[in-house]
Amino acid sequence: MISYGRQSLDKKDIAAVIDVLQSDYLTQGPKARQFSKSIAQYCGAAYASACSNASMALIIACRALGLGDGDLLWTSPISFSASANCALHLSADVDFVDIDGQTGNISYRALSDKFTEAYRKGRLPKVLVCVHYAGYSCDMKAIRSLAIKYGVLVIEDASHAIGGQYREKPIGNLDYADIVVFSFHPVKIITSAEGGMLLCDDKRMHDVIECLINQGIESNQNSIDDPTRAPWFYQQTQLGFNARMSDVHAALGLSQFSRIDSFVSHRRALANIYSQKLKALPIVLPLQESLSSSSCHLYTIRTTALNGHSCEKIRLYLYRSLLSSGFKAQVHYIPIHTHPIYQQLGFHWGDFPEAESFYHSVLSLPLYVGLDSKAQQAVINCLRQSFIDLSNDRCVVND
Ligand SMILES: *Cc1c(COP(=O)(O)O)cnc(C)c1O
Repeated sequence: MISYGRQSLDKKDIAAVIDVLQSDYLTQGPKARQFSKSIAQYCGAAYASACSNASMALIIACRALGLGDGDLLWTSPISFSASANCALHLSADVDFVDIDGQTGNISYRALSDKFTEAYRKGRLPKVLVCVHYAGYSCDMKAIRSLAIKYGVLVIEDASHAIGGQYREKPIGNLDYADIVVFSFHPVKIITSAEGGMLLCDDKRMHDVIECLINQGIESNQNSIDDPTRAPWFYQQTQLGFNARMSDVHAALGLSQFSRIDSFVSHRRALANIYSQKLKALPIVLPLQESLSSSSCHLYTIRTTALNGHSCEKIRLYLYRSLLSSGFKAQVHYIPIHTHPIYQQLGFHWGDFPEAESFYHSVLSLPLYVGLDSKAQQAVINCLRQSFIDLSNDRCVVND
């Protein structure tokens, strides 16, 4: 079975991991620092901190920005739930901003209207988490200037987006955000098995992040070098987490990182082939590049109503046809606010109509570095045949 995404490892990746296993440090050694430095340099960020995964990185980013009890965080409903869960973990409240159906990202218009309303009500968020859906950057310049106007801090959940560009600069460069977060889960652009990264430009913020990742233990070298203190001295200054990335994971991430540009260009080439070969079908293809040059983490199509069938039924038909040909497509995402835990907080179906109609029609096709051209052509053929069957009404679309 071929799935919508998976890792691409080579012999060097495996050798890099074995090297660490034979070294003195399995964790808290040089590899995580080296990986962080490489990513910071690549993105043009002053600082980067490796972390156990992106979900933890989001919690730590929120903590570092001072999000806590009674504060409010806004994010996109079309994301993995970690983009919102980070607020709940810190006893903060969550609300969502509806999306732009063209990109799957937060809609600037919806955001602007929501800010006006929130300002009038005196309930502005403390933090806005922007998600670069499928690797295509939000219009961060416009969003950042709105956020500054209302005094709101910005996190980019760039879990999909490492290797992409926005306004010709690498995603992660912090021109328009306080903290940027990456994920290195195996389906993402590069992987460390589990892993995440927090990037920032502010030294004090970086120190806080490093401290929170390591239990809240101060990592300030000055206090360690202080001759008036015992040689074994360390102190815990706040309540942190063990959210460290091990050197085993970092070695894999670092080895993968050396191929990041070729990974992204490979993904872009596969995405272009889909766009070329699917353009005659009655589906909506992902937006072509404009301000953002996508890392192509996902290739998502959207179905439309056809021959009396709803877009949902068409999507289900395509999903099942692909499945019976050996391809496991995926839907990104079930809107966060519709999960039972968020419904218990008072959200309902109907709250974010653009996000919900996006969800009803979207489908992610297989896209990853190791997807060979034969398999990709089989996906394309399967979709073409499905529409021939649909137009001849040879198929029965069942729920
Ligand atoms: C994958 C993902 C995360 C969580 O990443 P982990 O590293 O698995 O914790 C968060 N946000 C988005 C948008 C993601 O796609």
